[in-house]
Amino acid sequence: MKSMINKALEVIASRALTSRKFKQRNGEVVVLMYHGVVNSQPDIPDWCLLREEQFESQIKFLKDNFNVVSLSDAVEDLKNDTVNGPTAVITFDDGYQNNYEIAFPILKKYQVPATIYLTTKYIDSEETIWTGTLQDAFGKTTLNKMEWRGESLDLGSMESKRKSLATIKSMLKKEHLSVIEQSTSEIVDYLSGGEGFRIEPSSPYRMLSSDMIQNMAKSNLIEFGAHTHRHPILSGLSSQEQREEIERSVEIVSEITHARCRTFAYPNGGEDDFTEATVSVLGEVNMSSALSTMMGVCKKETPIMEYPRYGVGDDTDFKRGLHNMYSKYS
Ligand SMILES: [Zn+2]
Repeated sequence: MKSMINKALEVIASRALTSRKFKQRNGEVVVLMYHGVVNSQPDIPDWCLLREEQFESQIKFLKDNFNVVSLSDAVEDLKNDTVNGPTAVITFDDGYQNNYEIAFPILKKYQVPATIYLTTKYIDSEETIWTGTLQDAFGKTTLNKMEWRGESLDLGSMESKRKSLATIKSMLKKEHLSVIEQSTSEIVDYLSGGEGFRIEPSSPYRMLSSDMIQNMAKSNLIEFGAHTHRHPILSGLSSQEQREEIERSVEIVSEITHARCRTFAYPNGGEDDFTEATVSVLGEVNMSSALSTMMGVCKKETPIMEYPRYGVGDDTDFKRGLHNMYSKYS
């Protein structure tokens, strides 16, 4: 009985919350961060992947309640103090093929703009970012356990695979990219019995092709930004290495889209994941904005090279999260 009452109260509270209009927030922009949109979660569920209907209902909600503008318009409007009412920007990190195949038709249907940040090494390739490579290999392996750096990791069920993968990912994230790439290839070798695994065209981790990018660019709905060449955490690299990663990705994005790339998103994007050297390289390559993954809303006084975002994952309570963003950060 008690639980029924609690349930009823929860329903009432959530209705009150979602029916409450977003107050006019002049001068504030919320930048949403997505990664992938899929028909269904892979065997090892991934927070970064939203189901198609989940994504569509969020886009519809944004369309009904916000002015959804492009990132470049938001940057200008914030600078000129001309942001009126609840305003949102949609961004995608990494550059997955499902951004084109699943998200883009929805964005077109509702006519909402978005910016996609490309990890340029993997465009037109069958390779993907190391995290996706591991996610794919753990899903496919038939081994029941593995030894890694002196630890015995259980692979006996999807749940134990998910946990073991999380352990490896969090340890590797702290390493230099060269160590990460070496370890990833050794792990895939081991899990596949030396055969390797292929990131199939249907994989949620398959990356965009340049044709897909050009098609989206032609629509005038999608802008593109750089997200480094190989997706390292920049603070772990020397200044010279950071420069190479950034310059190369900016060049490739500009080349493919036939437009000068002016915006950047930091891989991992937390406050420890980039340095002053990173920001100064971005200035030298003429970026007019850079996005972190720190939580917050963007205002006129927000440093333009550290725009915060609202990261949306598959367990995000979208509407509640948006209300919370405003109550916490504005
Ligand atoms: Zn990323």
